[in-house]
Amino acid sequence: MLEAIAIEKHYDHPAGKVHVLKGIDLQISDGEVVAIVGPSGAGKSTLLHIMGGLDHPVSGEVVFAGENIYKLNEHKRAQMRNRNIGFIFQFYHLLPEFTALENVILPALVDKNVGSMDSVKVRAVALLDRVGLNQRYEHKPHELSGGEQQRVAIARALINEPKVVFCDEPTGNLDSESGKGVIDLLMELNQKNKQTLVIVTHDENIAKRSHRVVNMRDGKLV
Ligand code: ADP
Repeated sequence: MLEAIAIEKHYDHPAGKVHVLKGIDLQISDGEVVAIVGPSGAGKSTLLHIMGGLDHPVSGEVVFAGENIYKLNEHKRAQMRNRNIGFIFQFYHLLPEFTALENVILPALVDKNVGSMDSVKVRAVALLDRVGLNQRYEHKPHELSGGEQQRVAIARALINEPKVVFCDEPTGNLDSESGKGVIDLLMELNQKNKQTLVIVTHDENIAKRSHRVVNMRDGKLV
């Protein structure tokens, strides 16, 4: 379903060229849960962003459902991302001025083809219920705990029913109990919806529960 082919990435930094990804080949199957692990600075987040269509490789291809996503223009790629890909980040990246419900609804508003506002709202409420936040629709992010904010971010990532969800250290900022709740939820999504998960993590519990663990070191898969 998703394939990275010969991905190279470097930055021309004033302190010298930084070669971050050195020829990465990775295939991900539909319904798979893949953990990407490795030391800090290995290039994991960069790879995740490139596979998710957020950042350009210097060379190489990312093929999603048969399409080379970096051959698409910016608008088409954004549309493809919005419809097919969800993101969950370590620091949630919720919009602080909006309620939990509004944060979940927003990605659906970007795309005019996702249905009426009423149906989007019904879906957002159902997702917040599903992640255990049925008492928190009108709360703003600062009125929620870290674990609750991450649950809102999970609901937001799912509003457009993406085929694949990319997670960058989803439990990295959570205590172990909230972290376990988030992992349980992610695994349940995979089991019930067959959603593909690609998870950058230091969390051994995630690695243990993934179908496959990919190790990265110094810009390469090892
Ligand atoms: P990881 O997720 O494995 O910790 P990252 O993908 O975040 O690693 O970063 C890999 C390397 O790329 C790091 O050494 C980092 O300093 C470097 N890097 C990331 N972004 C930039 C940038 N914009 N300019 C220069 N170097 C960068």
